[in-house]
Amino acid sequence: MHLRTLLGLLLVLFAVSGLAFEAMAKPAVKDLRIGAHPDKTRFVLELSEEPAYRVFTLPSPYRVVIDLAELDWSLPSGATPKQGGVIAMLRHGLFAPGTTRVVLDAEQPVAVKSVFVLPPNDRNAYRLVVDLAAVGAADFAAQQQSFASAKPLPKPEPITRDSLSTDDERITVVIDPGHGGVDPGAISRSGIYEKHIVLAFSKEFARALEAEGRYNVVMTRDTDIFIKLADRRNVARKAGADLFISVHADSHGDSDLRGASIYTLSEKSSDSVAAQLAASENKADLIAGIELEEHPDEVSSILLDLTQRETMNLSARFASMVVEDLKGQTELLRNTHRFAGFVVLKAHDVPSVLVELGFLSNAQDEKKLQSERERQKLVKGMVAAVDRYFVWQQSMR
Ligand code: ZN
Repeated sequence: MHLRTLLGLLLVLFAVSGLAFEAMAKPAVKDLRIGAHPDKTRFVLELSEEPAYRVFTLPSPYRVVIDLAELDWSLPSGATPKQGGVIAMLRHGLFAPGTTRVVLDAEQPVAVKSVFVLPPNDRNAYRLVVDLAAVGAADFAAQQQSFASAKPLPKPEPITRDSLSTDDERITVVIDPGHGGVDPGAISRSGIYEKHIVLAFSKEFARALEAEGRYNVVMTRDTDIFIKLADRRNVARKAGADLFISVHADSHGDSDLRGASIYTLSEKSSDSVAAQLAASENKADLIAGIELEEHPDEVSSILLDLTQRETMNLSARFASMVVEDLKGQTELLRNTHRFAGFVVLKAHDVPSVLVELGFLSNAQDEKKLQSERERQKLVKGMVAAVDRYFVWQQSMR
């Protein structure tokens, strides 16, 4: 090839990749402000492009939800306010591929007074302005429920997973990193998010299992995105999972409580710690701004089923192996295997467990879980338990 042709080709390639990059560039968040005034709380999100939006409120707990096209949110989290006025806590994250969600938690009923977009001027870019005010419960119920821009929001893209094939001859293990996106999970005192810790661990765990060559490993999420509890179970079902492992690192009011623990599904909780964990885990959809379609009580109606009983026996067997294999690798919570009504474990025919790697409310655990070296010890124990469980299962056939 002539040099000139080659150069020409390279130029074309540059131009094409530049265009592709242009088309994919997401609107960027430039600033975020909360203004507390006597008559209203003003939320302002400054953006590089004119935003399409949908704003709506939800009761119990009271929240304002703002959906936008997927944003490039690279503002440092310490640089923006998290509360002010009627806003008790602000959270944001990827809600679905293509959709960024902001949730404003309130401690009392709030009404959306107005929503509008200001065009750029010489000091600011586009600004999405949402004015809120505290109201009584009756006014909350009577308010306009939803506000949307004339410019339509892009439709959320479905989550596609090429790996969800059931013809894989190998054993399929589904790893489910808890929380994600707009749901941070537990937050440690120094500001570490559970969703990041469990994703880091789950990726390391998946790599270690894959390295054995025997397992087809599927993750319910491998980025910082929100997944509904029911969708997590659906991934397991669609993938024809042989084992489902949900990974968490929650917090507890007692900051002395530390160590790894493992949970299986049960109608009655084994103890108050397990009951509290299940209650807070089951709220994940609510935290992300979804109205609950199903109730955690539903757990009680499925336990008489025989397949379910068999599945529960297998789950308990795997849990006991995890306890043995984590011993010596890491600190364990006393009575390491506990039970409660976790909605995410409700798959009828897939043995399922929920692992708490440790407590983010405990300073030592928090430090440990941030260290890849320490996490590798947990990975080692978990891989040993998975190996032992499937060897045992095959010996039963
Ligand atoms: Zn959790």
